[in-house]
Amino acid sequence: MRKIPLTILLAATCQSFSATTVDNITDTTSICTFRTTDGLALPVKKHFHDGKEIEFVEDPGNWFGASAHYLKGEPKVLYDPKVIGQYSVEFQAYTFQHELGHIKLNHHARNLAMYPAELEADCFAVKEMKKMGCSKKQIKNIHNQRVLFDYNPHMRENFWRCYEQ
Ligand SMILES: [Zn+2]
Repeated sequence: MRKIPLTILLAATCQSFSATTVDNITDTTSICTFRTTDGLALPVKKHFHDGKEIEFVEDPGNWFGASAHYLKGEPKVLYDPKVIGQYSVEFQAYTFQHELGHIKLNHHARNLAMYPAELEADCFAVKEMKKMGCSKKQIKNIHNQRVLFDYNPHMRENFWRCYEQ
């Protein structure tokens, strides 16, 4: 997830959100919860790609807050605990799923431009959060934090299209 300058954040929060279709939310029965260690909602279960465990590694100063890599052939998610720890547990879990998506969708080996890759990773993460039982209200909260990093209408449309799949 990209860390962006405060001026862009402020501009993003002044945007009027177009996702009005999810304002009337009634399905609050399903709630996903996350276990945290030192305030971080890292995935509890192990994740693998091509038979290799995807390792989560602290990376203070990570420019994006969190990022996915193949380092010497080993899949890794690097993250800055201070940056990620600022967010709600749902958004933390979403961010880690987004990075897992980059790895599981083979973005390191495919010749994708950055933007399609980001949309695919978002789609992967939204579906995972839904599978984990998050309510639509929780998903909307994740969406509202996600738009602070990318207020492009394609991102919003992609997010809800993936949720409905
Ligand atoms: Zn990404």
